[in-house]
Amino acid sequence: MGPPVTSFLPGPLKGFGVTFGTMFKPVNTELYPDKKKPTMPRFHGRHVLNRHPDGLEKCIGCELCAWACPADAIYVEGADNTEDERFSPGERYGRVYQINYLRCILCGLCIEACPTRALTMSNEYELADDNRADLIFTKEQLLAPLAPGMELPPHAMRLGDTKDYYRGTPAAHVMSGDVESADTQRIVRQQQSHSDVQDKAEGAKVTSPDEVAPVEGAEEVKAAAEVKAAGEASD
Ligand code: SF4
Ligand code: SF4
Repeated sequence: MGPPVTSFLPGPLKGFGVTFGTMFKPVNTELYPDKKKPTMPRFHGRHVLNRHPDGLEKCIGCELCAWACPADAIYVEGADNTEDERFSPGERYGRVYQINYLRCILCGLCIEACPTRALTMSNEYELADDNRADLIFTKEQLLAPLAPGMELPPHAMRLGDTKDYYRGTPAAHVMSGDVESADTQRIVRQQQSHSDVQDKAEGAKVTSPDEVAPVEGAEEVKAAAEVKAAGEASD
């Protein structure tokens, strides 16, 4: 097989060959920022600090996210809640929370480390500015806005005791609709499906002793135990 035909053409003609070949390909023009292309649903974008359905913060100031971050982009300072000034259920809350987007590589390891699902990531990717200071986001910038039915902390726990928050078992006044939010409805749905599963599991339990299969060797073990007990009693 001889050399390709294009190798006999002079350089400029070969260059125009590339141009003509490209002219007939479909055009792919992004109209950003006028038209923003939606990201994939699980795209890792700007972080959000979430709230419980009554408005209390989910962050407990444990710093696990900061320890997990490979880029050292998160700074957390925890503080104690008091009964007069409560920002989250339980003992502590994140008093200072900062994410440095000059360092963050949007890897998502911090959200994996968070034990309360306080920290999640949104699809927001417009994280640019003309100065360094504005790219260090504070807690106030990262906190999720108050949804209908939420109350701005500090305030008392409205959903019952601490376990109700973390086990997703909101007290009766929440289930009756006093505190309305998508999060509350999700918790109530989860609770209902959990009790359905429990009902099914309990219904499937073997309750009659007749249905329990005999354990191999159990009779011998029982007889040996009786002999041992009789010997101890005679001593
Ligand atoms: S996404 Fe990754 S780099 Fe960014 S703050 Fe979280 S752990 Fe750090
Ligand atoms: S965001 Fe999560 S991991 Fe980070 S301090 Fe708050 S509770 Fe702990």
